Amino acid sequence: MIYTNHKIEFDPEKCVGCQLCYKACFVDVIRWDSEAKKPIFKYVEDCEHCFYCQSVCKKDAIKVIPDPSSERLHQHFERYA
Ligand code: SF4
Ligand code: SF4
Repeated sequence: MIYTNHKIEFDPEKCVGCQLCYKACFVDVIRWDSEAKKPIFKYVEDCEHCFYCQSVCKKDAIKVIPDPSSERLHQHFERYA
């Protein structure tokens, strides 16, 4: 099963519960569901699109999808302009 919130796709079938994505996220987007032993993508509007969670996941269970219309993404790029 894959669910999407238009920014992050997560496939719980591939997830092995290693917590690496949870530990990698430096903002509050990824919380941990200790019962299910899976990440919860809670505050996706705060996602910085750093791709750390996607990069650390050895099971390819996370796909970060930047939203080009997002004001936050534009602010991110304008920092480097
Ligand atoms: S890094 Fe990947 S396998 Fe590990 S908990 Fe996160 S989604 Fe699951
Ligand atoms: S892309 Fe970065 S900020 Fe967004 S959920 Fe993943 S680790 Fe957190």
